Amino acid sequence: MGSRAVIEKQFRFIRTGLFVAWVVVSAIIVGWSVRIAQDQALSDVMQKAGETLAVQTEVLSGVLDKYRLLPPLLSRQSSIRALFVRDAEGNAQAVDARRTAEEIAAMSAAMDVAFFFPDGELLANARGSFANSAPDLPELIEVARQGRLGRAAISFGEGQRTYAFSSGVRREGRFVGVVVVYVDFYRVEAAWALSARRIFVTDKAGTVFLANDPAWRLQPVSQLHETGRIDRYLIDGRFEDRLDLARRLPLLEWDLHVLADPAPVDAARLSAAAIATLACLLAGLIALVALRRNEVAILRARTDRATALRLERVVRDRTRALSVTNRSLSHEVEVRREAEERLRKTQDELIQTAKLAALGQMSTALSHEYNQPLAAIRSYADNALRFLDRGMTSEVSGNLIRINGLVDRMAELSRTLLSFSRKPGATVGPVPLGTVIDEALLLARPRARAAGVVSINVGREVAGLYVQGGRIRLGQVFVNLINNAIDALSGTPGAMVDIDARREGDRVVVTVSDNGRGIAPEELPRVFDPFFTTKGIGEGIGIGLSIADNIIRDFGGTIMASNRPEGGACFTINLRAAEPPDTATTRRLEPIGGSGTG
Ligand code: ADP
Repeated sequence: MGSRAVIEKQFRFIRTGLFVAWVVVSAIIVGWSVRIAQDQALSDVMQKAGETLAVQTEVLSGVLDKYRLLPPLLSRQSSIRALFVRDAEGNAQAVDARRTAEEIAAMSAAMDVAFFFPDGELLANARGSFANSAPDLPELIEVARQGRLGRAAISFGEGQRTYAFSSGVRREGRFVGVVVVYVDFYRVEAAWALSARRIFVTDKAGTVFLANDPAWRLQPVSQLHETGRIDRYLIDGRFEDRLDLARRLPLLEWDLHVLADPAPVDAARLSAAAIATLACLLAGLIALVALRRNEVAILRARTDRATALRLERVVRDRTRALSVTNRSLSHEVEVRREAEERLRKTQDELIQTAKLAALGQMSTALSHEYNQPLAAIRSYADNALRFLDRGMTSEVSGNLIRINGLVDRMAELSRTLLSFSRKPGATVGPVPLGTVIDEALLLARPRARAAGVVSINVGREVAGLYVQGGRIRLGQVFVNLINNAIDALSGTPGAMVDIDARREGDRVVVTVSDNGRGIAPEELPRVFDPFFTTKGIGEGIGIGLSIADNIIRDFGGTIMASNRPEGGACFTINLRAAEPPDTATTRRLEPIGGSGTG
């Protein structure tokens, strides 16, 4: 987890660095955007103001030009010149003059038209605006006397303003009066009033002479600046010159001003700042989210890797432990296998020992079994010789046939003995139960006879049954059971052994019972124990039933001991049933004398 803290610390560091960078870059971007938007808006505003200025300059120049030319033209008119006379009494022709002035004023839309004598006396005027007290009159007359165009900016009454042009009237070279035309700016200002921009004219002295805002009229520009009426529109010093566009009217030495409206510039600056700020915030947010995601992904990858490593370690440990267990297991298996091998060898040896023991038990009876036919053969042969001497050939052949029969019987017995003494095989297969029991009886019968056993009965069903087993080993089991029965029957009157078998489903149940003394109840559980015997030294070693139990187990069967209610012991063998093989196979598998299939 230490590395997790390191990663988090690194990311905190990166975040701080990015934040600082973001602030700087955002400030630059916002400032730059505001600047661009402002320049753009400003140039628009200024262009529009410039257009207004150009148009209004033209308008004003046109108006002034028109009135400038009017006095010189009028002063040359003879009808006008004729007006400037006084009669003998010194009275002027005021009525005519007045009518003429009115006509001119009406036609030219001038504010007023006036005629003055050189001494300043009013001959007549159209509207009676100034009467005798016309302002600036002396200068206007004086300039006109000198033959130049007189001019004067005049303000009067309640903020009334006009511009006067004067021209001298001469008759026969004599200066007889002046024509003064007063310009009316009413229409110009009315037109300007429609414009949203401030439009005004300043004179040489810096006084606002014309303006579309009545409040500005006749105010010194400096005062307007002082009261903030102009500055109010300025954003900062940088814009002051540029927002106030001015053009000089050379004729009057007036300056026409147009104040551009800075509101769009403000708005543009504001919206640019807002948009740029929002964009920067958004970019910052996205960067933050991306960084956070990155961090989470790295942390998760780290956790995953740690988990995977832990898991790997666990798996490795487990595998190691398992392979150790595996090794010890396979060692154990090897040890077991060896032990089994040893056991099997011992068992084989024991079987051989048991067989030899059985043979030892039976040897007396067997030698009797051989001696008896041998003696018979001898006497048959002796008699045959005698019959031959007498030429009794038919008796001779009779004796030879009997000898043959006895030899056959002896050969059969010896074959069985041989096969019994052979080492058993390990295979399990279908075995004819009747044949196995016959062979066992062949070996056991002589001893039974010697022991006084009256009868050995074999059930009728036995002959047709087949069981799963090995022929020699199964034979050994029966030899053992029959020998034990014979032992238990010694001294019993009417001693007999019963062998029976029946099929029960896929099993075959064989019983070997006798009417001997039976098995003591406390000994019943022990009779299959190795080396358990009740017999005296040299009579039994106590391995017969133990081996029988092992053999039957090998065949997948069971063997049990019990006592018959009527007296005597009963051994019950339960074996897997087998189907009889076809004759050819039977012959091949079971040649007479046994091939050693145990
Ligand atoms: P052994 O015959 O060498 O004693 P076995 O294992 O064949 O060894 O038999 C063990 C014991 O079981 C015998 O000593 C005997 O006491 C008892 N036994 C076996 N068969 C019979 C029988 N048919 N009747 C009475 N007792 C028997």
